[in-house]
Amino acid sequence: HDATRGTGGGRLPLRADLADEVPYGAPQLDVPVLLNVNENPYPPSDAVVASIARRVTQAAHGLNRYPDREFLDLRADLADYLAVESGVRLGPEQLWAANGSNEVMLQLLQAFGGPGRTVLSFAPTYSMYPEYARDAMTGWVAGRREEDFTLDPDRAAATVAEVRPAVILLASPNNPTGTALPLATVEAVLDAAARVEVDGAAGASPVVVVDEAYGEFRRRGVPSALELLAGHPNLAVSRTMSKAFGMAGARVGYLAASRELVDALRVVRLPYHLSAVTQAVARAALEHSDELMAQIGSLRAERDATAEWLRGRLLDGRPLEVADSDSNFVLFGRFADRHAVWQGMLDEGVLIREVGPEGWLRVSVGTPQEMETFKAALVRVAGLEE
Ligand code: PMP
Repeated sequence: HDATRGTGGGRLPLRADLADEVPYGAPQLDVPVLLNVNENPYPPSDAVVASIARRVTQAAHGLNRYPDREFLDLRADLADYLAVESGVRLGPEQLWAANGSNEVMLQLLQAFGGPGRTVLSFAPTYSMYPEYARDAMTGWVAGRREEDFTLDPDRAAATVAEVRPAVILLASPNNPTGTALPLATVEAVLDAAARVEVDGAAGASPVVVVDEAYGEFRRRGVPSALELLAGHPNLAVSRTMSKAFGMAGARVGYLAASRELVDALRVVRLPYHLSAVTQAVARAALEHSDELMAQIGSLRAERDATAEWLRGRLLDGRPLEVADSDSNFVLFGRFADRHAVWQGMLDEGVLIREVGPEGWLRVSVGTPQEMETFKAALVRVAGLEE
């Protein structure tokens, strides 16, 4: 299966804008150390697996029926989880879920984007954002982050005023850089958005999406944008069970927003989009959120140790550059030939990611043993010195 082959062959009436496009293709290779797609390296515990098996068995007895279309039980469980995780209490009608936060964000663009409208984000950022825009037939504009990958509030506000987008996507912590946004920056973007009227409709400000896929990994003292939901009906905070929760295989993403915004997503979702099995798995995992959250501390510590180790290595006599990270990965560089380093690591059995600005590479945080293997391989492959 060649994920890099284009889909345009000329024999199908493919949309012209898709002719040269290729499918999303982070390599899925069978190597010993997988550190390329920011997964949680720890599989679910036996207790979590047992709860999943119990709830899925229960759901299986009813699979002749369509699932609960509104999944209010799952939404209530997600609200309870967020209340503990971030201290913000929301009602179940303010939560929404889909098959991964990728699907949540596509639904956002289906509802709030569309022909003649524009999505704005700030690069370097998550590579799927322009693809959601394309799939929802929405224009795409990438503003710039600063040299250190932060977002300058005044420059961001000026870009919002200039571009007049219908949707603004802010990843915090950002992928692939790991950069979290201070709430003041999100507020500056919300203020700028409040001065834009989408399609000239009075009071219809752009939707601001803060993508907190890696939110649980943020360092102490970095608040969640959930704190800004009250008073901002056009704000959506997107989360996922794929990362901190260690449930990437279950495909569950969700968002928190005003009831009005969630109701708009209910219009565009496909009927019964969240299967009964998915709902059962998610609710079973959420029963164990305390245990799962306890693990995050060690991943954070491993992240900080990895960043510090990288900062202490010399490449051609100069210290490696390492981006500050509030997530479960670290972006580092710069290599004259990053592809050669990526390939050399793969030859050593360590799969990392060739992503971000030229010269940089990204490593996801694995187990302590995996990080030892990563570090030893990187020293050999890139010729690092202490
Ligand atoms: N947002 C960001 C910033 C991501 O990095 C990812 C996954 N790589 C996602 C969203 C989507 O994750 P999922 O669909 O698994 O929830």
